[in-house]
Amino acid sequence: MITKEHKEFQERMRSLLAAFAQELPQRIGEIESLWSRLRAGWDTKALQEMHRSVHHLVSNGKTFGYPELSVEARALEQILKRMLVETIPADDALANHILQQIDALKRFSNEQSSSSADNAAVTHDENTFLPDAPASNLIFVVEADIEAAQELALQLRYYGYEVEVFNHLDKFRAAIQQRPHAIVLMDIEFPEDEMGGILIMEQIQKELVCPARVIFISTHDDMAYRLGAVRTGGVAYFTKPINSSELIDQLDLITASQIQDPFRVLIVDDSPTILSYHATILEQAGMLVKTVAEPMNLLRALNDFNPDLILMDLYMPGCNGVELARVIRQIDGFLSTPIVYLSSENDFNTQAEAMSLCGDDFLVKPIDAAHLVSAVTMRATRARFLRSLMIHDGLTGLLNHTAIKEELAREVIRSSRLNSPLSLAMVDIDFFKKVNDTYGHAAGDRVLKSLARLLKQRLRETDIVGRYGGEEFAVIMNDTDAASAAKVIDEIRTVFSRLLHLSHDKEFSVNFSCGIADLAHFSDAVSLSEAADKALYQAKQRGRNKVVVNSGD
Ligand code: GH3
Ligand code: MG
Ligand code: MG
Repeated sequence: MITKEHKEFQERMRSLLAAFAQELPQRIGEIESLWSRLRAGWDTKALQEMHRSVHHLVSNGKTFGYPELSVEARALEQILKRMLVETIPADDALANHILQQIDALKRFSNEQSSSSADNAAVTHDENTFLPDAPASNLIFVVEADIEAAQELALQLRYYGYEVEVFNHLDKFRAAIQQRPHAIVLMDIEFPEDEMGGILIMEQIQKELVCPARVIFISTHDDMAYRLGAVRTGGVAYFTKPINSSELIDQLDLITASQIQDPFRVLIVDDSPTILSYHATILEQAGMLVKTVAEPMNLLRALNDFNPDLILMDLYMPGCNGVELARVIRQIDGFLSTPIVYLSSENDFNTQAEAMSLCGDDFLVKPIDAAHLVSAVTMRATRARFLRSLMIHDGLTGLLNHTAIKEELAREVIRSSRLNSPLSLAMVDIDFFKKVNDTYGHAAGDRVLKSLARLLKQRLRETDIVGRYGGEEFAVIMNDTDAASAAKVIDEIRTVFSRLLHLSHDKEFSVNFSCGIADLAHFSDAVSLSEAADKALYQAKQRGRNKVVVNSGD
């Protein structure tokens, strides 16, 4: 399948290659004139500049599929490097050698301009990048028992999923063919056939281009059923009665990869051609890319763009990649942002030195598209994971106590400046100790997770949710006064009290109390927190399962 994006990608790659070929004579001309300057007398700056220009040909030549050019340039680069390191001017023999190498470069460039740029070896597999299936929060529940199906659908809808119920296999079959991105919750047992669910999925999977994602549900927990399920593409298997919070966890997991924010990659390289080459590859893989060609602009780009990962060239005019990495490491917010050097430097000592100074990885140019994407994805995934461990609560995935307090301080300052409303809601589960005592700590944990998820699902993207303490949650609501906040939280209170939790086949439900205060009545973070706490206490006093607003009187 060749998509429109894929075609555009191929087009851009082609024009980049063409641009490189077109610039080649000029670049080599520059190298030649630098050499004439150097012949007139020792000139460290000119020598450095010449070394850098030649180095560019080494790395770009390899990247853009001109290996012969790269080899010739490499020989010249080595001579120049030795001159630089040992500060020796070229004697006649060495000068001759240099001239020969420059001639070789010129010859190569002339040959290239007479043939088309299309001849350059494009090493990219046509199928490397295909867009993922569209994101989906659509669930098809296929279940013969109408009542059980409706109850399950209700619970799933509470968590923000869109659900359609099918009690007949033929109707389901038509629907999945039209909307194959739906996640299927398939009961295995049907009245007409003990294994009807597995059989129908077996047929349907063969008819679909991309196999549907299926979660099987069954009263049986034996090998024949489980095997049948995995063989027809089952990604999970649940036995009845279904633990809905575990089911939701599974669904969140299946859909999580689709809703993750794209990785943000900052590329620093003085060559515009290399910049757009790497940017094109990473953008094609769905990442957000910002490029910096002028190192002096790096600080602004860092702050504006807030990257997950920095891809850093080693050699640049004015400063080198290692120096830039050290600067980055001295800025608080970027202490742990991974820095990956990307250079044609394949000398082991230089690599080791660069790595020991603030680098996280070293990729050698040329790097093929698939390798670049996977290296960046791996590093960025890990960095996000580590950062996320620092600020999130392990059980619920919400911001932890420290992080939510920091957010509150930030948001109070921001809202005060903009003179816009802000509310803080403190939510505390009622008689939670009794839940633990009656149903066990594990069941209690699942209740906490379900409330966390419900808050996330029901609140806006801009609302900030944190786990303030054991069974206490804090919600910061921007652009919202206390009365509107109370309305929203009260709806969530109603939904939460209707959720059914399960422990050892026993169903139970739980409710919470909430206290709310807003910035109009309490003007700083500390008094806002105290006021919301006080309202929460009143909600408990007045019988729990309530939302109370503190209006300061
Ligand atoms: P109230 O309605 O007055 O809020 O009563 P409560 O029982 O909810 O309040 P209390 O503060 O007496 O008890 C809170 C309980 O929450 C005690 C503690 O064991 C439990 N808890 C705190 N953190 C966790 C956790 O991570 N998991 C589980 N399962 N329980 C927790
Ligand atoms: Mg409580
Ligand atoms: Mg409490």
